[in-house]
Amino acid sequence: MTRLLHRTTRSTPRLAVAARGITIEDSEGRSYIDACGGAAVSCLGHGHPDVLAALHRQADSLAYAHTGFFTTEAAEALGARLVADAPEGIGHAYLVSGGSEAVEAALKLARQYFTERGEPQRRHVIARRQSYHGNTLGALAAGGNEWRRAQFRPLLIETHHIAPCFAYREQHEGESAADYAARAAGELEAKIAELGAENVLAFVAEPVVGATAGAVPPVGDYFKRIREICDRHGVLLILDEVMCGMGRTGTLHACEQEGIAPDLMTVAKGLGGGYQPIGAVLLSQKIYDAIAGGSGFFQHGHTYMGHPMAAAAALAVQEVIARDNLLENVREMGAHLRARLEEVLGDHPKVGDIRGRGLFQGIELVADRATKAPFDPDLKLHARIKAQAMGQGLMCYPMGGTIDGQRGDHVLLAPPFIVTRDDVDEIVARLAKAI
Ligand code: PMP
Repeated sequence: MTRLLHRTTRSTPRLAVAARGITIEDSEGRSYIDACGGAAVSCLGHGHPDVLAALHRQADSLAYAHTGFFTTEAAEALGARLVADAPEGIGHAYLVSGGSEAVEAALKLARQYFTERGEPQRRHVIARRQSYHGNTLGALAAGGNEWRRAQFRPLLIETHHIAPCFAYREQHEGESAADYAARAAGELEAKIAELGAENVLAFVAEPVVGATAGAVPPVGDYFKRIREICDRHGVLLILDEVMCGMGRTGTLHACEQEGIAPDLMTVAKGLGGGYQPIGAVLLSQKIYDAIAGGSGFFQHGHTYMGHPMAAAAALAVQEVIARDNLLENVREMGAHLRARLEEVLGDHPKVGDIRGRGLFQGIELVADRATKAPFDPDLKLHARIKAQAMGQGLMCYPMGGTIDGQRGDHVLLAPPFIVTRDDVDEIVARLAKAI
């Protein structure tokens, strides 16, 4: 009997014993193609020799040094690399151990920024429905899935949710993409007006919505409009690229494709590729300057922040991606994956939508294509697809999202950046069988 509290008390998960490249093996000798990188984490696949070598080197020289006493070469080099490659205006990186920690730190940096500037009343956060920003209490407050939040109320941050930019579900029949983008972004303007701009801290959003919606990209100039609205009202823009960032969509940061830069950005998952737990907040120079010119002390911190093993792993992962030109493979194989999904599943009577960017593709499953009606949630379709896919030796990431109280099922694919055409064909063939 297991002594671990697993995600569910109803069953114990399979025992994973080994992993190499794009496959994971269990204790019964079955192997699974990791077509979702776990949760868009394993961007280099498993057991990459260069990352393992970097980890060995770091463990040999220095495995841990508390940041209250020291900085380390690994952490400094990673910080420098992250800032050098960051969107315009980003001046510094803050290292943490995962996505939720990054979101917590970003929210606290935002609060402290305004406090240092004498605007402590700016504390309302605006986010979007059908969003996920992490499971710690602050990050959970930002997320917009009520079923995750309900039993933990009252939440720690006052968050207000507007509609996501989700064309398949929200764009009206006959409405142009430009008009829809304007309408969706207009929700932010209206919410800021309702709350009073002087009370609003930040708007938080994923550029391409991952786990909760299944790789939903924005439409038209939505994010340009969002950036403009935030600037006009002095509201900070926090982009959560924990899942869609670090190359997953074909550019290092997903926001590059929107032509905007955030005030704060969170990254994690693909940053360390699963070799170590790591995340980061990238913060604009103006936020750093407000703290440096004020109290000079960010009132936050974790024991394992800037962990040299984690930093060394992340640095090695990012170096391999650049050296092997893997973002080009993400774009090429992403296009191939999308084409194969459309060929094989595009006419499936229960497939409503196929969307995504790069190696971040999603499929929306519907009971009726014409009405876009979701499946009855009691069917637990996402759980069934996951079980069927595992039976086919395929790890994919199905979820039942919440759309204004209705559920909708989707499958997310986020394979490692090293996939080949044959790998992609095999993934789609196994997924089609599972569906
Ligand atoms: N933000 C987003 C967009 C995520 O997808 C996730 C994880 N699914 C998180 C935050 C939280 O990250 P973690 O699970 O590493 O705490």
